Amino acid sequence: METRKPTRRRETEDRRPEGLVSPVEGFNERARRAVRDGDLHDSVELFTNKSVAGRNAVLNALPEAPGLRERAYHIKQETMANLDRYLGQMADAVEGRGGNVFFADTGEDVVRYIGDLARRKGAKVLTKSKSMATEEIELNRRLEEDYADLDLEIVETDLGEWIAQLAGDTPSHIVGPILHMNRRRIADVLSGVAGEELPPDVEALGSFARRRLREKFLTADIGITGANFGVAETGTIATVTNEGNGRLVTSVPPVHVVVMGIEKLVPRFEDLSVFVRLLARSGTGQKLTVYTNFVTGPRAPGEIDGAEEFHLILMDNGRSELLGTEFEEALYCIRCGACLNVCPVYRQTGGHAYGSTYSGPIGAVITPLLKGGKEAKDLPHASSLCGACWEACPVGIPLHDLLLKLRNKQVREGVAGKAQGLAFKGFENTMKNPALYKISGKAGRLARKPLAKAGAKDGIPKTLPGPLGAWTNGRDLPELAPKPFRELWKEGI
Ligand code: SF4
Repeated sequence: METRKPTRRRETEDRRPEGLVSPVEGFNERARRAVRDGDLHDSVELFTNKSVAGRNAVLNALPEAPGLRERAYHIKQETMANLDRYLGQMADAVEGRGGNVFFADTGEDVVRYIGDLARRKGAKVLTKSKSMATEEIELNRRLEEDYADLDLEIVETDLGEWIAQLAGDTPSHIVGPILHMNRRRIADVLSGVAGEELPPDVEALGSFARRRLREKFLTADIGITGANFGVAETGTIATVTNEGNGRLVTSVPPVHVVVMGIEKLVPRFEDLSVFVRLLARSGTGQKLTVYTNFVTGPRAPGEIDGAEEFHLILMDNGRSELLGTEFEEALYCIRCGACLNVCPVYRQTGGHAYGSTYSGPIGAVITPLLKGGKEAKDLPHASSLCGACWEACPVGIPLHDLLLKLRNKQVREGVAGKAQGLAFKGFENTMKNPALYKISGKAGRLARKPLAKAGAKDGIPKTLPGPLGAWTNGRDLPELAPKPFRELWKEGI
């Protein structure tokens, strides 16, 4: 007999492991702690190395991969340019098949829609699968708080997500949610639920999870899923997954609710052949995931499975603000996780350091755009701008450019702090004005002596004093030539 319901906050909050998000910490503090965690480092390295090797192997064996990448980019570009039309087409197609469509401006709208639906249906158990959009809006917590009188039991059913939920933890990778946990930690978490010690053995743990989750599948009143893609012309929801739980969530409960970000649309069914081929290869190094599911509305007369009632929630939550802006390409993401696996920052810190549902390079871009706020202000700087993410991205999103644009935006809007804005303004003016440039060179050489005293290695200043030292924490101060080029030129050298 299970001693606790898995989603209850009161039952899980005391289990929050070190390294999880604290509202008072920024990326830098969390990252500093993460890089000291040897176990975390080993787990992240193992997972990302394996994923990158697998991805390279399958993509190298697909000669049309560069062409597919280009097509994917153009399909997304066309979709975003006509998003209102395609959303209308999608809604008409779903309603034409007997489904319900709701346009949610915010996360609160999604919570209200699902909470009210649960109340109308007298629902008690809600099973979930494959949804980062609901993670983004913290659907579970909000439903439990705002609809506490319903006493809902909300159960994640993707294995990793379920274990994270039981541990009071959050996913740390788009496709490997608990890559930060080793087998011993997983056995501890599941033993707590089992009420007996389970061995850290994959077979034993998997079989325990299967038994427990099966009970939930069979008793669920509402199944909630996300969508990898929504096809405007047919109203079809496509999910790609390696676990069979997705099918049990979409077809066993009488009601199926899909929460889909509006950017997940593709115009035509044939477009799926481009994205499905790229997604699994880029994310997990598979040619195709084990299950590729298509759901088009509720169960029709004569069909043997499917929910009796189907609801599609098209969630905006800040996305439409990006349309037509310099950040629109961030909406082309298909959440494959490839950019995380190659990112030298993610590979050192893991996902929790980003403090958001979305981590790695794509998280560093979309979290500040969708969420904003002080917590996200460090994220555009969580990158070496090496461009590996852009090379790995199956849709060709120039993530490094977007990160630079975000830094620029922070300076323009004063988010980066007045000092940084003034410093860049001063730099700009100096570079534009030859006289100022000359004076600054002289001033720099004069400042060398006091700087050398403040932080010198081998007599050469390497660090800047005071708050300027933040800039030289991770890099050496470049040495100034003893004589500028102009003087050397005058001297005829
Ligand atoms: S930005 Fe590109 S590589 Fe990163 S998750 Fe999205 S689609 Fe994948």
